[in-house]
Amino acid sequence: MEATILVVNAGSSSLKFAVWPDRGTHNAAILRGQISGIGRVPWFRVRNGDGDLLVDEAWVQSGDAAHGLVPALIDRIERQTGGTAIVAAGHRVVHGGTRFASPVVVDETVMRDLEDLVPLAPLHQPHNLAAIHALAATHPGLPQVACFDTAFHNGHADVADRFALPRALHDAGIRRYGFHGLSYEYVTRALVRLAPDLARGRVVIAHLGSGASLCAVHNGKSIDSTMGFTALDGLPMGTRSGALDAGVLLHLLELGQDHDSLEHLLYHESGMLGVSGGISNDMRDLLASNQPEAAQAVDLFVYRVVREIASLAAAMGGVDGVVFTAGIGESSALIRDRVCRGCAWLGIELDAEANLRRDGRITTRGSRPSAWVIPTDEEQMIAQHTVEALGGVKEICYA
Ligand code: ADP
Repeated sequence: MEATILVVNAGSSSLKFAVWPDRGTHNAAILRGQISGIGRVPWFRVRNGDGDLLVDEAWVQSGDAAHGLVPALIDRIERQTGGTAIVAAGHRVVHGGTRFASPVVVDETVMRDLEDLVPLAPLHQPHNLAAIHALAATHPGLPQVACFDTAFHNGHADVADRFALPRALHDAGIRRYGFHGLSYEYVTRALVRLAPDLARGRVVIAHLGSGASLCAVHNGKSIDSTMGFTALDGLPMGTRSGALDAGVLLHLLELGQDHDSLEHLLYHESGMLGVSGGISNDMRDLLASNQPEAAQAVDLFVYRVVREIASLAAAMGGVDGVVFTAGIGESSALIRDRVCRGCAWLGIELDAEANLRRDGRITTRGSRPSAWVIPTDEEQMIAQHTVEALGGVKEICYA
């Protein structure tokens, strides 16, 4: 029976998963899928490694939260693949705080430490941890590994992570952490294979998806990132505001808004959706629209990406390359074109044809810095970490 690794990314209303052979996490996934609409009308969709749709149907098992579905998902996957056995689970966990600088095999002590971090990521961490709890209850012998969005950024210089707030608040954990770390780590490893000289240099990686951030990476190590204490900081995103003058929040509080309404405003009503006046949070819709508000949202996005690339270049004392990844970064030649034009003063010179082909290097031979497109794969990074953390999972018995 083939041993496989289950990768779980449990959110509030959706659970994304992928399955890898435990000996071949550098290859393609066997399956990728998600259960969406959890708590409303759960829907189950699975594709094979080639992207062919295998299952597209209502999820009938009871359970109203992502975590409750994980044990049943294992049975379903093992039936679907007919002849594989899941021997370990790797979880995306949003926050590892300052303690977890790398993935960790979860035991009771680790779990307690991760629960202590819930106040730092109240919208995500509880769902990540609940999935681990659910599997521990039903599959007690199954090794589980937590892989953190923050870990790649661990080790920043103090100046990069400190807010200009009283020291006691910093000591209590109110500091910058950075997120999207699994994506940055994947892209950094891919860059070593694709352009080893550049990988030793100063690179800004632009993870531009519904959530968006930039990371300054020098010789494979994160130096700084646009996301900070939460995944709300930095660039404007699909529905999130990005960086905001804290005085705006004080003003809105004075006008009578409370915590919940501010949270909704900043996470769900702002960003591209808010600036476009409700047209869309989706970059494809905005680019296709002829409404001036849609154009204004796109202009703001590009402006902020360009501005923050320069800011991170300053943090590294220069920049040798820019890498685009995630939904917008990988798929939109137009956004890449506009960002690169905004960075022309840095020396970036786009190769228009290479940009349309979007494979690997997209700048001219003489361009310094160079620019690249590298598709990210956070699930694969988690699968690799899981195998590495367990020292080769084949030794471990499936209880
Ligand atoms: P997340 O994983 O954060 O949900 P993705 O990385 O999947 O997000 O990126 C989603 C974003 O990518 C959406 O804004 C979508 O419009 C954008 N996107 C996908 N394809 C294209 C495209 N061809 N042109 C422009 N934007 C695109």
